[in-house]
Amino acid sequence: MWLAESGEPGTTLALSFGVHGNERPPIDAGLALVAELESGALAIARGRLLLIHSNPRATEEDRRWSEGGVDLNRCFGKAVQAKQPELYEEQRAQEVARVLERHDPEVLVDFHCTVEPGDPFMMQHPGVDHAPSRAVLRLLSARVLLSDPELNFGNVSLDEWMGTRGKVGICFETGWIQSPDCTPEFVLGEMKNVLAGHGMLAGVEPRLHDDKTLLQLDHVIRCEGDGFRWRDGVGSNLQALEKGTVLGAYADGTEVALPVDATLIFPKKKPELVEHGKPLVYLGVRH
Ligand SMILES: [Zn+2]
Repeated sequence: MWLAESGEPGTTLALSFGVHGNERPPIDAGLALVAELESGALAIARGRLLLIHSNPRATEEDRRWSEGGVDLNRCFGKAVQAKQPELYEEQRAQEVARVLERHDPEVLVDFHCTVEPGDPFMMQHPGVDHAPSRAVLRLLSARVLLSDPELNFGNVSLDEWMGTRGKVGICFETGWIQSPDCTPEFVLGEMKNVLAGHGMLAGVEPRLHDDKTLLQLDHVIRCEGDGFRWRDGVGSNLQALEKGTVLGAYADGTEVALPVDATLIFPKKKPELVEHGKPLVYLGVRH
C-alpha cells in the first residue's frame, strides 16, 4: 500500500487492484502508477492518493486467491473483520480495512477484470441516484452500472465496505481478461482519469462519460427445483430481456419466466453452480 500526499487540500482517493491476484491488467496498471509516482514522473497536485495492491501474495502465486486461502472480496463483512484471522486473506482484509480507516478516503475505486466474456461494468451498493457516486461513475468509461441497495451480494466486498459507510465505493470490472481491449494501458488511462476528475493531475481535464445504463438489482430468481436448464440463446451476463421471456425450465418441465423487463446479472450457467434456494440469476431493472 502506498500513500501519495500533495500537501494541498483535496479529496482523499483510494484505488485498489489485485483483490483477485491474477487479474493482471488492473494489477499492471496499478503498479505502473506506483512506479510513476515513485520515480517522480507523475506527481499529484491536490489531495491524497492511496494505492492498494490488495492481494500481493495471490499475485505472486498467479492465483485468484492464495493457495489454501479464500476470496479476499468476501472478507470485508463483519464476520471476517471481527474474527481472529486464520487465513492470509482474512488477515489482509483486516489490514486493508485498518488502512482505510486511518486515511479515511471519500472515494475508493476497486479495479477488476472478468474471467467470462462481457463488456466492462461497474457495481456499487448505493442506489443509482447517490450523487457522490454518480460524480465518480462519469469518470469511468464503462456504460453499465449495477447498484445493489438491498445488499443482495452480501455486504462482504471491498466496495461494499466503503458504500455501507456512506462513502463512494465502486467495483469496476474493466472487461474480459482475454479481450484485446482489456490492457494495462486501458486500465491505467481509467485510473488517471479518476485522478484528473479529482483535480489531482495539474492541467489535465477529465473525460466525462455520461451515457450510462443504470440498473438496480431489484429481483432475485432462486432455484426452486431440480435440473434447471437454460433456454438456448438466453442467460448471458448483462443480457436485457422483456417481461415474460422464458429463461429455461426444470427437469419436470416447469418454466421460469421473467417477472419484469430486466437485465440478467450473473446467471448461473454452469449446472454445478445451481443450488436449491440459491440465486439462479439476479435481475437488474433500469432506473
Ligand atoms: Zn476480480
